[in-house]
Amino acid sequence: MLIVMRQDATPEQIQGVVRAIEARGFKAHPIPGAQRTAIGITGNRGAVDRPVFESLPGVLEVIPVTHAYKLVSREVKPEPTVVDVGGVPVGGPELAVAAGPCAVESLEQTLVVARRVRRAGARLLRGGAFKPRTSPYSFQGLGEEGLRILAAAREETGLPVVTEALDAEGVDLVEKYADAIQIGARNMQNFSLLRRCGKASKPVLLKRGLAATLEEFLMSAEYILAEGNYQVILCERGVRTFSDFSRNTLDLAVVPAVKSLSHLPILVDPSHGTGRRDKVAPMSRGAVAVGADGLLLEVHHEPDVALSDGPQSITPEMLDVLMDELRQIAPVIGRVMQ
Ligand code: PEP
Ligand code: MN
Repeated sequence: MLIVMRQDATPEQIQGVVRAIEARGFKAHPIPGAQRTAIGITGNRGAVDRPVFESLPGVLEVIPVTHAYKLVSREVKPEPTVVDVGGVPVGGPELAVAAGPCAVESLEQTLVVARRVRRAGARLLRGGAFKPRTSPYSFQGLGEEGLRILAAAREETGLPVVTEALDAEGVDLVEKYADAIQIGARNMQNFSLLRRCGKASKPVLLKRGLAATLEEFLMSAEYILAEGNYQVILCERGVRTFSDFSRNTLDLAVVPAVKSLSHLPILVDPSHGTGRRDKVAPMSRGAVAVGADGLLLEVHHEPDVALSDGPQSITPEMLDVLMDELRQIAPVIGRVMQ
């Protein structure tokens, strides 16, 4: 249920509605909009008593929300959400490119890549300190040491850092160092992790699960918002299909689908989405053209010796070329790029 306040509703009237919601044991989510404030209600089992809320001072109307997801839906918030990642807006007119190595391997490797990422014009640095690997014998990441290296790279380059937390217990540590907490594809339905990130003080980058429908994807985001963290960025990273020419099938059609159903920004990750270096640039161009708010790219200066995901990592030189191409595409679709 959504309570839409009148345009001239006072802060006291908004508070009054919030109190009335909480008095019934529900949770209130005030969502300030350009025109008026709306207040989402969650935590109710059955129907909410509409006339009670309709009669409260300052209330314009009470609307049932038809989708299973509520707070992430456009019905509840028509304006796009702009997420602030360490001062970099994601979801506004400017395209946000996050780039960096799959895994933080050493201070030197991270600094070399981070400098090139910055020079190429990307706004965010990505890199995993905790890696979700298919094999327990593969490199699992440097852990806290990796987080310290990312913080050092941010210090030098000024690029805010996006890095993954593998489980709810790990969020405390990641939250301390990161500017945005990544939830990996395999963890999209790790509900305790989602809930913990809903209480985090940093924005969350939520990747689509390997076999997740759009509804499941949005429901996972809903978990985070329902706990009070409205700073969520979605990320399409490819789903499993019978394709035998790519690691995953990058579902670019999900971008306009998300845009029509949700106000949350969405990035596209063509690195995991294709698994092949030569396909990253064409799919990046496509992603921007279909309306993605930005990209998540794996970049390595020596991809052949990378400890993780080398075959899909582009070189800094390839990133330079791609960023120039994106600068030409962006204005055609009304976006800007630094
Ligand atoms: C990553 O971004 O390095 C990663 C592990 O991605 P995903 O969770 O999409 O596989
Ligand atoms: Mn990777």
